[in-house]
Amino acid sequence: MPRRYGPYGGAFVPETLVPALDELERTWREARRDPRFRRELRRLSETLGGRPTPLYFARNLTRRGRGAEIWLKREDLLHTGAHKFNNALGQGLLARRMGKPRLIAETGAGQHGVATAMIGAALGLATEVYMGEVDMERQKPNVDRMRLLGATVVPVRTGSRTLKDAINAALRDWIANVRTTHYLLGSAVGPYPFPAIVADFQSVIGREIRRQSVRAFGRLPDLAVACVGGGSNAIGTFRPLLRTSVELLGVEAGGRPGSVGAASLSRGRPGVLHGTYSYLLQDEEGQVRETESVSAGLDYPGVGPEHSFLRDTGRARYVAVHDRDALAAFHWVAEDEGILPALEPSHAVYAAVREARRRPKGQHVVVTLSGRGDKDLGVVTEHAAR
Ligand SMILES: *Cc1c(COP(=O)(O)O)cnc(C)c1O
Repeated sequence: MPRRYGPYGGAFVPETLVPALDELERTWREARRDPRFRRELRRLSETLGGRPTPLYFARNLTRRGRGAEIWLKREDLLHTGAHKFNNALGQGLLARRMGKPRLIAETGAGQHGVATAMIGAALGLATEVYMGEVDMERQKPNVDRMRLLGATVVPVRTGSRTLKDAINAALRDWIANVRTTHYLLGSAVGPYPFPAIVADFQSVIGREIRRQSVRAFGRLPDLAVACVGGGSNAIGTFRPLLRTSVELLGVEAGGRPGSVGAASLSRGRPGVLHGTYSYLLQDEEGQVRETESVSAGLDYPGVGPEHSFLRDTGRARYVAVHDRDALAAFHWVAEDEGILPALEPSHAVYAAVREARRRPKGQHVVVTLSGRGDKDLGVVTEHAAR
């Protein structure tokens, strides 16, 4: 496995973190070859998480598209309500293997914080979650969930008081407490080996899609679609399909028309953020730009380095979808299929329906429904009332 994806990736970190990143990489490489580790990962994925998640034929959504069949990969049914479980479980087991008694994490919308608090409780590890003050107000129910699961939530009052600042705070904590603490990073971003480890644990999504598509409609899908914040559910969807002829489409948050949104691959250029070289929303001077999106989970100015590489090589395509179109798709999924999706994958659903419309009826489009929408009901009802 490469440390770089073409020119992207790397580990731009202070020297104090280098031994911890090396230890993490070594532990992960050993663990993934260890049958006992794999059995434990599988057992907890199934019995705590609820894997495998179903592949669901969205019959009514397909009618709306009037073209290719649309299938939903139901990561919203996973324990704690999003794909974040896959990574939190995997890294939690790595922390235990390294003998580290303490987990720290960053969170934006709170989904990764909840997943980390859950795994901290299940594995008996002390857990502290850094969260921007603005996000704590926007996502109050998830703050309560983390606390009830026994985690400490630490408010971050620097910068824009959102996800980017929470990652900075978590990295500072890690530098100070690296001997006792594992930083359970929540997406396929950050310094190597994090992008590789997170992609590895999320690849269960794409492996199941491969198997379930063949069982459900006799072959691989023609197109796989996933939303891209940091890029973990998308890379987990794409990785196991890279060496096939399946087309891959990543969907970023376009924000409001005229804004940059959070579309790093569509509207950014390469630079270094949080220890990795990748596409990044930055101004003329290289300062990181403020992002804006209706979905807190996509609101990040960077993106995982592997996506930058897939973009440049053309193996995957990336598009941006506006807030209002994602909101429309939220209501389609709710009213057509009886599922309340999170706003993040609603971006992917919008793009998938548009793609399905252009394709013949015999084709199959699989969309990863990365999470459920309970956390977004406030935002959605507020928009609906306007
Ligand atoms: C966190 C989150 C995302 C964005 O993160 P990725 O790393 O890009 O997958 C997308 N969907 C949901 C439901 C999330 O909670």
